[in-house]
Amino acid sequence: MWDFETDPEFQAKLDWADAFVAEKVEPLDLVWPGLEFTRLEGERRKAVEPLKDEVRAQGLWATHLGPELGGAGYGQLKLSLLNEILGRSSWAPIVFGCQAPDTGNAEIIAHFGTEEQKERYLQPLLNGELFSCYSMTEPQGGSDPGTFTCAAVKDGDEWVINGWKFFSSNAKTASFFIVMVVTNPDVEIYRGMSMFLVPADTPGIKIEKNFGMGAEHEGSHALIHYDNVRVPADALLGDEGQAFAIAQTRLGGGRIHHAMRTIGMSQRALDMMCERALSRRTQGSLLADKQFVQGYIADSYAQLKQFRLFVLYTAWSIDKHNNYLKVRKDIAAIKVLMPGVLHDIAQRALQVHGALGVTNEMPFTRMMVGAAVMGLADGPTEVHKVTVAKQVLRDYKPTEDLWPSRYGPTLKAAAREKYAEFLEHEVGNL
Ligand SMILES: Cc1cc2nc3c(=O)[nH]c(=O)nc-3n(C[C@H](O)[C@H](O)[C@H](O)COP(=O)(O)OP(=O)(O)OC[C@H]3O[C@@H](n4cnc5c(N)ncnc54)[C@H](O)[C@@H]3O)c2cc1C
Repeated sequence: MWDFETDPEFQAKLDWADAFVAEKVEPLDLVWPGLEFTRLEGERRKAVEPLKDEVRAQGLWATHLGPELGGAGYGQLKLSLLNEILGRSSWAPIVFGCQAPDTGNAEIIAHFGTEEQKERYLQPLLNGELFSCYSMTEPQGGSDPGTFTCAAVKDGDEWVINGWKFFSSNAKTASFFIVMVVTNPDVEIYRGMSMFLVPADTPGIKIEKNFGMGAEHEGSHALIHYDNVRVPADALLGDEGQAFAIAQTRLGGGRIHHAMRTIGMSQRALDMMCERALSRRTQGSLLADKQFVQGYIADSYAQLKQFRLFVLYTAWSIDKHNNYLKVRKDIAAIKVLMPGVLHDIAQRALQVHGALGVTNEMPFTRMMVGAAVMGLADGPTEVHKVTVAKQVLRDYKPTEDLWPSRYGPTLKAAAREKYAEFLEHEVGNL
């Protein structure tokens, strides 16, 4: 059955979220703009906490996990529709309790954590009481885990972690880190790494620098030195050597959640482009009447619509199979498309705004840096293209004919034989 409609009950929730984000959350972006939102202190906390209560009262808080994993979720398809709305604002994911990297971190603790770990880390994370950090990439190479050297060795009942991690987002505000380290250097890397849950105040965690995006003043992506960081044996998340299997669970969800919010961000750029086109006059007519600008609008609309349908279809597939691996090809394909969609639409919107478009009064340059980030975070575009191609090729077999597949002479001869009677008749009529 094919159906492109949302059930009326959930549509009512979406309508509420749409109005709530427009009236109460988007203004936060104007007061505290940019990506420096995770320091939730003082006035920011006072402004945000009552909004979170309104979201909770609507049953829309922390909906990235389903009830079977301890959340209040409705599945990926409905989350997608909600995330489109939240993507319009940097603050909305915080207000709705579903911001990265906490969503992915909550998901893996829910799947692989012990009861004690869930009580200590998952519940407070889902309650919005604390933030978390995911620490995997290393300075010498993110796309090639074969180069990872940050390691933990056993010392009695404890593990001791030593090494460096790079781009650990939100380290400065996190209450705990999920650190992925080598625990067995004697086997291939994909079986030799493990994950640990490490409280942020553990001695030996040294944040050496926080990198900012673009023109950001205060960065939140940390270079960390783990210098003899001791954790107890029960800090291990899942089994020893299981880190890559766990990471896939996390990154599968994370990637599609970014894509859902990218729809919202791109829609916002398109909305602004259209409003500007209908408001600005130059050389005797509205921008909306110029064919070049009409081209920008048409291309953006079609690009966004295409991308949105692909994301919704993939979310639906995840719900259907309940397994990210089965939907790996489409998640990777969405990840590949995402930076281009946001970049192209934001760039056209910026252009239509003229000089105003490049100023920090407008969100477009931030969006374009955001597009570049989408092409790197959770793995670079090139690596995901390789995944897509490999998965696509699985459905094909090599052909022995010189001609490719369905046009080969063997198949042609077989087809002629099959329709010999009709061919004869046809020749007879000629
Ligand atoms: C905003 C942001 C937030 C992030 N947050 C986190 C976080 O919270 N935790 C964390 O652990 N990491 C995080 N990362 C790191 C991210 O996962 C890495 O940047 C990513 O995996 C790429 O690694 P790298 O930066 O070392 O680039 P490299 O691995 O050095 O790759 C550089 C470039 O080489 C090319 N390339 C790489 N591999 C291939 C290939 N197979 N074929 C062709 N070309 C290739 C690509 O163009 C790629 O961009 C974050 C990154 C960003 C930008």
